[in-house]
Amino acid sequence: MKEKNYVIAMDQGTTSSRCILFDRQGKVCSVVQKEFPQIYPQPGWVEHNPMEILSTQMGVTMEAMQKIDARPDEIAAIGITNQRETTVVWDAATGAPICNAIVWQCRRTADRIERLRRDGWAETIQRRTGLIPDAYFSASKLAWILDNIPGARKRAERGELRFGTVDSWLIWNLTGGKVHATDYTNASRTMLFDIHQLCWDQEILDYFHIPHSILPQVCPSSHRYGTTEKFGGSIPITASAGDQQAALFGQCGFDPGDVKSTYGTGGFLLMNTGSDAVQSTKGLLTTIAASVGGPVSYAVEGSIFVAGAAIQWLRDELRLLRDAPQSERYCTAVEDAHGVYVVPAFAGLGAPYWEPYARGTILGLTRGVSKEHFVRAVVESLAYQTNDLLLAMKEESGLPITSLKVDGGASANNFLMQFQADLSNIRLERPQCIETTALGAAYLAGLSAGYWKDLDEIRANWGREREFLPSISEAKRDALIKGWNRAVRCALAWARED
Ligand code: ADP
Repeated sequence: MKEKNYVIAMDQGTTSSRCILFDRQGKVCSVVQKEFPQIYPQPGWVEHNPMEILSTQMGVTMEAMQKIDARPDEIAAIGITNQRETTVVWDAATGAPICNAIVWQCRRTADRIERLRRDGWAETIQRRTGLIPDAYFSASKLAWILDNIPGARKRAERGELRFGTVDSWLIWNLTGGKVHATDYTNASRTMLFDIHQLCWDQEILDYFHIPHSILPQVCPSSHRYGTTEKFGGSIPITASAGDQQAALFGQCGFDPGDVKSTYGTGGFLLMNTGSDAVQSTKGLLTTIAASVGGPVSYAVEGSIFVAGAAIQWLRDELRLLRDAPQSERYCTAVEDAHGVYVVPAFAGLGAPYWEPYARGTILGLTRGVSKEHFVRAVVESLAYQTNDLLLAMKEESGLPITSLKVDGGASANNFLMQFQADLSNIRLERPQCIETTALGAAYLAGLSAGYWKDLDEIRANWGREREFLPSISEAKRDALIKGWNRAVRCALAWARED
């Protein structure tokens, strides 16, 4: 038999499908990415065509293999990581989707969630699923499909339909319809899964009138799901994990207290809390972390709606920047933000504030404020928002946070990283490989397939590209944070004023 040289990570994201082939050192050997269309049938609605998700993911995988002439018998395993919560329903006999996938961003079921709150279910949902009820999660999307697609409910009750998040949809197709499964991390984002008992919650299913037969089997993230024959030979599929949990794993966040912070379009902070499912009172979510064998690990998660998107706004709408990296030069051209604070609450504020009606707010303008100061204030807002989440996590988990592993596009900004270290009084570590989501999926798959022996072997692969250490006084830090808190209060006041 040929030596197994690679592990494939299929990284199925919201705007593109990607495939990366990694070697034993966790090095990227081949990468291919393809965007696919976003469908906006009505304001606030977002859909994907499941066949486009599938065809782009299959296409980039074949191309990534071809690019380096990797044959199927050189591939140890496939790991899948995916956009979470997005909901697909298909016919069990034909495999044909019965409608477009409803994407996590889609707000069409917001009123259904309001009804759920009025029905008094919010507390039960949070206790059992770890989630604060919201239209983001799959439950109300699946219920919408069953209620609105003609004949869907009857067919579901007859056992003719299958539901899945994008990982399930891919696994079903890769295995030629043999396997209908998902993993704990994806299941924990459906709002139908009891994260403590590790099973679908019958009462929540009943509340949404969802028949059990439509649901996938739930397995650990690192698990032999099946084999695929779609790439010219047999390749085992040995992992599935939601994107943020995969990224935590790819950053070697295996132990309680390990935290990763992603600075992408949005921002995501995840902290491993080990066997302890910390229930939040500050609007953080409790979720299942990706792990290998043994009992599951939990994580707390906080998200920032607008992180790198604020830099895009500077570039595309305000046209103050040519490109995102240029922001760093403006930031370092001045000593500070000259007292300016920007709260980029374009889509409301998430944890720990949860105010959907908050809006972007600019404060502290004086005659001397320059473009450089303004750009700097926007970049600083990414760090302030992250700091708010860090403080909430520290308080709720009771775990000390000594270092933060960073990734995502905006983590390339050295000014931002240093400002974060200063503000949060924390050591920041930026890895050599910032493809942490795909890497996490590859690690989970490779561990299950025996390509990597254990977590220590993987830890040895993690290389630090750069470290950022706090370097400002406590008084300065306090003053900065005080100003930010004032600015947030103004953004919140704007929301509540009639
Ligand atoms: P996603 O995976 O969410 O699409 P990425 O991780 O690719 O996002 O990050 C892209 C985001 O990072 C964009 O919003 C972009 O504005 C921002 N970004 C990229 N480079 C920089 C930089 N040097 N400084 C600040 N922001 C940046």
